Amino acid sequence: MLVPTAPAAASPAPSFLASALLNWYPRHRRDLPWRHTRNPYAIWLSEVILQQTRVAQGLPYYLDFLTSYPTVQDLAAAPEQEVLRHWQGLGYYSRARNMHHTAQQVVREFDGQFPSTYAGLRQLKGVGPYTAAAIASFAFDEAVAVLDGNVFRVLARIFGLHSDIAAPASRKEFQAVADQHLPPAHAAEFNQAIMEFGALQCTPLKPDCLFCPLQSQCWAFQHGQVTLLPVKAKAKAVRTRYFHYFVLRHGERLYLKERPGGDIWQGLYDFALAETDAATMSAAEVVRHVEALGGTLVTSHVAEDRPAPTLRHVLSHQKLEARFHAVELAAALPETAARDLGLRSYSASEIEALPKPVLISNYLAKAK
Ligand code: SF4
Repeated sequence: MLVPTAPAAASPAPSFLASALLNWYPRHRRDLPWRHTRNPYAIWLSEVILQQTRVAQGLPYYLDFLTSYPTVQDLAAAPEQEVLRHWQGLGYYSRARNMHHTAQQVVREFDGQFPSTYAGLRQLKGVGPYTAAAIASFAFDEAVAVLDGNVFRVLARIFGLHSDIAAPASRKEFQAVADQHLPPAHAAEFNQAIMEFGALQCTPLKPDCLFCPLQSQCWAFQHGQVTLLPVKAKAKAVRTRYFHYFVLRHGERLYLKERPGGDIWQGLYDFALAETDAATMSAAEVVRHVEALGGTLVTSHVAEDRPAPTLRHVLSHQKLEARFHAVELAAALPETAARDLGLRSYSASEIEALPKPVLISNYLAKAK
């Protein structure tokens, strides 16, 4: 006898936002390698790199990491310095360090398998709400909406949300709107689509409103407030720091040190450094600094008529102005002094293998 069954509950019709984005996405998306995989490790790598840089710049890093470390076990087993070396040029090295720790945590605590749910992924060090939602939806189809800068902007404009997107309290409001429009059966595609829409169509400065499929439903467009949304509180003022590097050479070897924690570039290698309030330093001051390091000068390039080369470097909240005072030492630094200061001498090939801030790499490339 046939037992009558209740008709399957129909999934609710997708919202206007979901329909428009799912229609827009296949016709406009960029063909990117991380969109062809469901491997949570590869997706996680791409997300960590893309939080740091734009797609075009991040792509070679993604390919390099996957080639050098095809599995999370490979990444976990790699020496930290080597990982930092692969990351070199992306900046914000604590992100690379966290990435390495996360890989080790996955191997140690999860038997080398990424957790398959949003809640599980959030247990991983350095995996925040955005990355967890991205991996959970892209790799495991979990219906959880992502919120990144692109999504904040799209939602703020379409729904006329005026909360400050830099304020942590706003996340709840935006998350609720995103979740409400996420079609559970197409979570991955919706998430990809809304981020891509923000990156290509609803861009920060010149959104293509004229040819936008959401124009008639877009609050910001209808109210002439496209350039006013999203609302974002001003970032902290940028401060300028003056670095004076002493590039100590003895024979063919240069002295470098590992940077300690508590400041930028932890764990990377740079030269002996004095930070001052002035952009320039007299020859006499340079000599004094080098002698304070225990060094005896033979010759130096610090004469007033030959100014030390200066390189500038911009970080998120700091502008660095770095002067490089090249100094030739008569003798190796006394061992105790070098040890106290963390300075060690390295050959050119050893320096090549050390992880270094871009500023130092640029100086070395110019000084060749
Ligand atoms: S109309 Fe303009 S502001 Fe509104 S969603 Fe489209 S591109 Fe963005």
